[in-house]
Amino acid sequence: MVEDKTLKTDMLVIGCGIAGASAALEAAKSGLKVIVITKAAKLEESNTFYAQGGIVSLGEDDYPELLKDDIIKTGDGINNPQAVEVLASEGKEMVEKILMKELNIPFARSSPDSLDYAQEAGHSRRRIIHVKDTTGQTIEERFIATLKKYPNVTLVSNHTAVDLLTVPHHSKNPIAYYRPPQCIGAYVLDNQTRKVKTIFAPYTILATGGCGAVFLYTSNPQDSIGAGYAMAHRAGARIVNMEYIQFHPTSLYHRDADSFLISETVRGEGARLKTKEGKTFMERYSDKGDLAPRDEVTRAIYEEMVNTNSNYVLLDIASYAKFEIPKRFPNIYRTCLKYGIDITKEPIPVVPAAHYCCGGVLADEWGRTTLKGLYVIGEVSCTGLHGANRLASTSLLEGLVWGTRASKHIVSHYDPATPYKASEIHKWYYPEKEEEIDPALINQDWLTIRSTLWNYAGIIRTKKRLERARADLDYLRHRIEKFYKEAEMDPKIVGLKHGIQVALMITHAAISNPVSRGAHFVKE
Ligand SMILES: Cc1cc2nc3c(=O)[nH]c(=O)nc-3n(C[C@H](O)[C@H](O)[C@H](O)COP(=O)(O)OP(=O)(O)OC[C@H]3O[C@@H](n4cnc5c(N)ncnc54)[C@H](O)[C@@H]3O)c2cc1C
Repeated sequence: MVEDKTLKTDMLVIGCGIAGASAALEAAKSGLKVIVITKAAKLEESNTFYAQGGIVSLGEDDYPELLKDDIIKTGDGINNPQAVEVLASEGKEMVEKILMKELNIPFARSSPDSLDYAQEAGHSRRRIIHVKDTTGQTIEERFIATLKKYPNVTLVSNHTAVDLLTVPHHSKNPIAYYRPPQCIGAYVLDNQTRKVKTIFAPYTILATGGCGAVFLYTSNPQDSIGAGYAMAHRAGARIVNMEYIQFHPTSLYHRDADSFLISETVRGEGARLKTKEGKTFMERYSDKGDLAPRDEVTRAIYEEMVNTNSNYVLLDIASYAKFEIPKRFPNIYRTCLKYGIDITKEPIPVVPAAHYCCGGVLADEWGRTTLKGLYVIGEVSCTGLHGANRLASTSLLEGLVWGTRASKHIVSHYDPATPYKASEIHKWYYPEKEEEIDPALINQDWLTIRSTLWNYAGIIRTKKRLERARADLDYLRHRIEKFYKEAEMDPKIVGLKHGIQVALMITHAAISNPVSRGAHFVKE
């Protein structure tokens, strides 16, 4: 637990999903002093924890070239070739070295000598390795347990990054303005004491994950509000491709189910999408039928829902499975059963939901951003790997590969010198009279942000809808900024400030790009 108000470390990692944990582990092995913070009360809580389907490797009769082709086809050709090359050529080796050998992840096997390779949409080979349908949970738990063994790693939960610390912006020294901008750590709110700490680090790694929860319907946990995009934007780092929000076609439709995803491997294992009347429809939308890429399946479902005036469609595994469903999908089986749906006997009602942000803070092949001292990895980054649309199960691998590479780069170029003195940096400013937070205002502002994005900047966008979203969100931003300046420090108000900025980034990006491609679809 962090006690001082000002701390110094060699490396600050913000977020401890697969990306942050991979970076911390690599740096820990080299002996650097690392602080890892997470806003969550439990270290494991992250999108990573909920990943079900698995992680991409290379299957039998499979080659990096085939994987590259699949990534680029799904990404609609606007992927960064250098990033695709890095993932396809280094991914499998890192999975074997870090996940299998060091963390000992018990990936499922089809025989004692072979891993069980699953199929997912957009992949030309069976190449997804998995721990049944709790892959993310197992990986995350083992990472955290391993990191705890390193005395040079401090894991801090319940601490929310509020702003990246940058010079000259946060400097009291007017001479600092003649130096190039640099990130030197972060202001971090202790969620319990409500006090803001200053953590100095010559290297800061942003690993805060995605922003699905700025939309009304999402597969992400409700805390996934894109804080990293907002902080990096304010700090002056370049952000790209925020219009490419991938919607997952199948999340469970049930009054009481809060964002529960039905993995695409279910369709990979033979399940078919059907209308409420029980008619299959994907063959009318794509040659690949039920295994078409995510964006095509999502729009097809949306169209079917509109055409049949229905709130959901059905996903039928019961009629097609040639295996024991509860054994292959224990988590999905158990969770659906909890809501009264026996997936071995009946189809699952599903709706699309915001799932993954293909854009983000621009990062090169080592995770470097356009701001000195700041690296960015995992979903919050945009390496260009995904182009306009992400190929299923590549994001865990991207987090692992870029997390490890960012730390390798930092370790091999490590330079503790930073052009500032701690005394030159502004302490956090608290207003003289802090206003108490009214939860009704926070809840309503979130509802406005989420429903505006869902209805006007969601699966099918139009110029008019986007303009309307921009106007409504802009007005709300002024209100929230004022509220933020006067209110007591609280993770909820910090989240709201991040959230409205992310909503506007998505909307602006969507307005600026009239070309429908991949996950960004604008109707004439
Ligand atoms: C339901 C679901 C299923 C998925 N299935 C798969 C799959 O099968 N295969 C696959 O490859 N991908 C899958 N994905 C996508 C994948 O899980 C994510 O893209 C990936 O886990 C992101 O990892 P990350 O480390 O970048 O971020 P995360 O795992 O989301 O971690 C973010 C971390 O940042 C912390 N954080 C955020 N903001 C702050 C702040 N302001 N201050 C401090 N800490 C902060 C969080 O608490 C957390 O520790 C799935 C996603 C979901 C939601």
